[in-house]
Amino acid sequence: MPVLASIEAYADELTAIRHDLHAHPEIGFEEVRTSGIVAEKLQGWGIETHRGIGKTGVVGILHGARGPGRRIGLRADMDALPMDEMTNLPYRSTNPGRFHGCGHDGHTTMLLGAARYLAEHRDFAGSAVFIFQPAEEGLGGARAMLADGLFQRFPCDEIYGLHNAPYNDHGQVRVFPGKAMAGADFFDIRITGRGSHAAMPQVSRDPIVIGAALVQALQSIVSRNADPLEAAVLSVTRFHAGTAYNVIPKTATLAGTVRTFSDELAETIRQRMRTIVAGVASAFDVEIDLDIRRLFSVLENHEAEAAAFADAIGDIVGAENVLTEPKPIMGSEDFADMLHAVPGCYCWVGHKGTVPVHNPGFILDDGILPVGASILARIVERRLAVG
Ligand SMILES: [Zn+2]
Ligand SMILES: [Zn+2]
Repeated sequence: MPVLASIEAYADELTAIRHDLHAHPEIGFEEVRTSGIVAEKLQGWGIETHRGIGKTGVVGILHGARGPGRRIGLRADMDALPMDEMTNLPYRSTNPGRFHGCGHDGHTTMLLGAARYLAEHRDFAGSAVFIFQPAEEGLGGARAMLADGLFQRFPCDEIYGLHNAPYNDHGQVRVFPGKAMAGADFFDIRITGRGSHAAMPQVSRDPIVIGAALVQALQSIVSRNADPLEAAVLSVTRFHAGTAYNVIPKTATLAGTVRTFSDELAETIRQRMRTIVAGVASAFDVEIDLDIRRLFSVLENHEAEAAAFADAIGDIVGAENVLTEPKPIMGSEDFADMLHAVPGCYCWVGHKGTVPVHNPGFILDDGILPVGASILARIVERRLAVG
């Protein structure tokens, strides 16, 4: 029986696993219940299981029945987002302020589905390494696993991962070599001015007016300092100041993110930010602190592995549904750090959902659970085929 048919036979079980994870979401490095369920399932299928890699990460090792050989790593993320869910699903989040709004509950379930199938068939030479990663959403879960010696303790020759994509057509999968997702910095800015009565602005150093000027000035970096043919985003996403109608506050705090596909451009933007912040501070005679840090590397798929992944995906969804023309996105993904250590590839599996990820109304289509599981299982069978 082909992979997809085998896994579809227990699609209901996969859906039940996901609904349970969905109802009990945990954010980065707090995936205690989730990782416990993952470990229990892997052990139940006879897979050697290791916990506590990158705090709450789990790694499973499965040796094929056809002898020793190369090692293929499959990675899924497990964390939810710190936000409220606004759906009416019967299995909606029971944890206030926690929501699987990026569908990582689905990714975890797909990798479990692949692990179960591979453990039942073991029709390959070599090893499958199942990597269940914590804290993908900006908290550095991949780096934590790497720092814990992930690939020293569990060496892989190639690694693969995937993300659900409500913005692709259902049944289509996007996979291509080269730069696929942007690198990202997060930044925090603190303006320390002088508070006063709102009716006496002359004795204040108003951090709101200064912050507004700063936000505008920062927008000139992408429009005036970046090559128009190179993609870049600078978004200020937070601006907190003040508590009353008639009080000019003393401080304002801002935060946001920078995205690029080139490390050089990212450094240019950082330097311009520092210069503008220093200039605005001087112009308004206040102190402004800027903290900017690299959270995500550029995700770059390796050529040979991208071709192999496209072939395996074609086996599952049909070659006509594999979209291989390069179409990078400005979103970021910390699987990029694993791809710096081991060659591999990442793909997006399109589904019927119509609401984007990170939106409180996001709904993952359960129909892609067997598809994603089959893609992950198939790449192992293809890359570790005998003869
Ligand atoms: Zn996300
Ligand atoms: Zn995600």
